[in-house]
Amino acid sequence: MIVMKFGGSSVADASRVRHMAEIVKARLSRRPVVVLSAMGDTTDHLLEAGDAALNHGTVSLERVEDLHLKTIADLGLGEAALESVRPLLAELRALLTGVSLIRELTGKTRDYLVSFGERLSVRIAAAYFASLGIGAVAVDAWDAGFLSDSNFTMAELAPESWNLIPARIRPVAEKGVLQLVTGFIAKDEKGNITTLGRGGSDLSATMIAASCGAEEAQVWKDVDGILTADPRLVRNSRPVETVSYEAASELAYFGAQVLHPRAMQPCMKTGTHVLVKNSYNPEAAGTRIVSCVHEKDGHVLALTSRKKITLVDIVSSRMVGQYGFLAEVFSWFAKHALSVDMVATSEVSVSLTLDTSSDLSGLEKDLSRIANVEIKTGKAIVTIIGNVRRSSKILAHAFSVCEALGVQVQMISQGASKVNISFIVDDHEADTVITALHEDFFEKEYGNRA
Ligand code: ASP
Ligand code: MG
Repeated sequence: MIVMKFGGSSVADASRVRHMAEIVKARLSRRPVVVLSAMGDTTDHLLEAGDAALNHGTVSLERVEDLHLKTIADLGLGEAALESVRPLLAELRALLTGVSLIRELTGKTRDYLVSFGERLSVRIAAAYFASLGIGAVAVDAWDAGFLSDSNFTMAELAPESWNLIPARIRPVAEKGVLQLVTGFIAKDEKGNITTLGRGGSDLSATMIAASCGAEEAQVWKDVDGILTADPRLVRNSRPVETVSYEAASELAYFGAQVLHPRAMQPCMKTGTHVLVKNSYNPEAAGTRIVSCVHEKDGHVLALTSRKKITLVDIVSSRMVGQYGFLAEVFSWFAKHALSVDMVATSEVSVSLTLDTSSDLSGLEKDLSRIANVEIKTGKAIVTIIGNVRRSSKILAHAFSVCEALGVQVQMISQGASKVNISFIVDDHEADTVITALHEDFFEKEYGNRA
């Protein structure tokens, strides 16, 4: 058994659905279980429709209805396919009418609202496979054993899912029936629909693969795997052959939009391989994510950056050598529910970074009781992923590149997992730094030189 996940752009319209089906068909002998996202930008469109109902009392579902009905028509699917989506579209309209009347849209209702995207896409895909003579069924995540907590819009899967999912999925797969499972969604104990966070379908797929003991989880994207840098930025970026789960998570976290940051967790537990493949170029090898990569020391795998970062410098206003300072600083971050990304400390000061979208006014007030606080916006985190156990060589290169560009490195940290070195530069410098680092690490004739 293998699990194959296709994101929204891979099922954006009839031609993409046909193409996805070709890729799946070519692998039927490996007993695939397919996980799908909502078609195209449907999730965004549903959220926008929710906001319109909430703020303006209007029900505007045309984009969502038209896309799904047109796809059914374009795929030449008959009445049966229409019948499988009509009740959902009617329920969706009723839900939005409800929102427009009561003018209230909680996280719980939002999850219920966006769940229609995935539920519609698996039904259309199942009908299409059936029209090709392939025995296929659409499966809603909760019927596939996806049980979560009630943390709406960001739910965590419950430990029971590890047993529930294989109990539901495996017997059907063994019969040779192709299951098209909704990504992204689950239900809590009380039966409320939840979602696993934006981009959560990756996690749905890796969870099925890990819990069912599948050969591998294939995540089909529109690039040739995990690349050495963002291809929109670095023309000569190229796919990485193999990468560890840790490095892949760091990459996802620090801005490379390859996989959902939490998606690696289930497969890390079981050692199940995750393969990132390109649906526009199925012959390309893709990137394989595995437990242990024996890279040589100082080998750089990829570069990434995350913009719109705020740097907070906190200098203790108390005596040097006093204990409890860091604990107190972090307790204030926890109290304000602020998630910190990078940290660097000295005896009397600590610098940390957060997303610029975070509201820091309350924190600043509380912290100013124990420290002088300086908040600097407009920063970017540049991250070098690789085997950084011997980091000095990598750092020497990175700093000489920055020096040559006249870029000031403002803070630096190395993760305990020893797969990343991150540093802060000004937001507007990040692209230039990444391009120059890529040239230095990957494009010199003698190859990876660190
Ligand atoms: N459809 C959801 C989203 O757009 C989940 C996913 O695509 O993975 O975030
Ligand atoms: Mg999507």
